[in-house]
Amino acid sequence: MVENTIYIIDVTNRDGVQTSRLGLAKLEKTVLNLYLDEMGVFQSEFGFPVTRHETNYLNANLELAELGAMKRIRLGGWLRAIKADVEEAFRLVPKLKHVNLSISTSEQMLNGKFLGKYSWDDIINMMCEAVDAAWERGAESIGVNAEDASRTELERLVEFAKAAKQHGADRIRYCDTLGYDDPFTMYERVKTLAKLVKIPIELHCHNDLGMAVACSVAGAKAAIDAGVDAYITTTVNGLGERAGNADLVSTILAIQKASGFENKYHLDKHIILIHAWKICNYASRSFRVPIPVNQPAVGDNAFAHESGIHADGTLKDSRNYELYHFSEVGRGHIEQIETGRLITTGEYSGIKGFRNVAGKYELEFKDDEEAREILELVRYANVHTQLPVTEDEMKFIAEYPKQAMRIMSVEPWAV
Ligand SMILES: [Zn+2]
Repeated sequence: MVENTIYIIDVTNRDGVQTSRLGLAKLEKTVLNLYLDEMGVFQSEFGFPVTRHETNYLNANLELAELGAMKRIRLGGWLRAIKADVEEAFRLVPKLKHVNLSISTSEQMLNGKFLGKYSWDDIINMMCEAVDAAWERGAESIGVNAEDASRTELERLVEFAKAAKQHGADRIRYCDTLGYDDPFTMYERVKTLAKLVKIPIELHCHNDLGMAVACSVAGAKAAIDAGVDAYITTTVNGLGERAGNADLVSTILAIQKASGFENKYHLDKHIILIHAWKICNYASRSFRVPIPVNQPAVGDNAFAHESGIHADGTLKDSRNYELYHFSEVGRGHIEQIETGRLITTGEYSGIKGFRNVAGKYELEFKDDEEAREILELVRYANVHTQLPVTEDEMKFIAEYPKQAMRIMSVEPWAV
């Protein structure tokens, strides 16, 4: 049994929302952070600290963590590894504690993106300067991202990671930005990197060749075989740039259930898979992207059987045709759908209808005034998300009205 651990860093609120035509309202990002915390995820990359429309959301979420609304999860910001960005980030989001600082490392990007403006030494120096600046401003943990690591010469990656480690970085993020690696190249490269530098490795894999989860777990195995911890970055339902990222639930299942991992490699023991169904459906609804019918664990067909041999075999013993039980991923409950009269709460609701809905959710208010205050925020929530307010959203607003108000305050700055 190997001793090191595989942790999950979910980047839905960063890579997921930066994706073309996909986005989440700040309230939805917040609920996702609460769900990820409930699921035992180590860190949520919760947004972009230098982006102005994130400021209220980021500050309010850090406050929520302080208030105990989130128990354990770390909230990490994504930044370019540029000193000025680090300074701006800590000015706008003073309580920021965890950051990932990102810079491109491949020859392709140095020539094709930076157009030769920076030498390799410049890249190393910019990264080190940014790391130093983050420590000076109160960072408690720093991950350094090598963007396009999979197309970067291994020798350079080692040099880059050694420099980051010398400046105190906690982890190196190996970004397979274009999904170029396969599980075998990933294993070899990450093992060499981890062995030579002895620094925990984050695996950040994209799905352009359909191998994001496979590459992520192969990289994690390599890191652990080399004697360091591994961190896999995931997104809920695998949504992310282009063909997406490593899917959160599939990644967890791969580590827990695959023949080469089960009982051999440790997944962070805080992970509770039973919340999978809830978080995947919430993300699907909020992103307005249906879960594919064949999605592992949470797709409509993940536990469906029809053909004679399969149905018969499953009925005799589900282990004949199911690798894991549906209850493990939070399925099996009966969902009630109202087919008769329905009272909903939205942007034009009044107090009577609201009290009816709140009563169903067993929400209590100390007086009418409090109920009216919460109703006002719930109306704004509907304006803000343009979707019916969910039970958990309403409960969150009722429990943390001040923070909810701040999260939903998204005003353009005067230009
Ligand atoms: Zn990415």
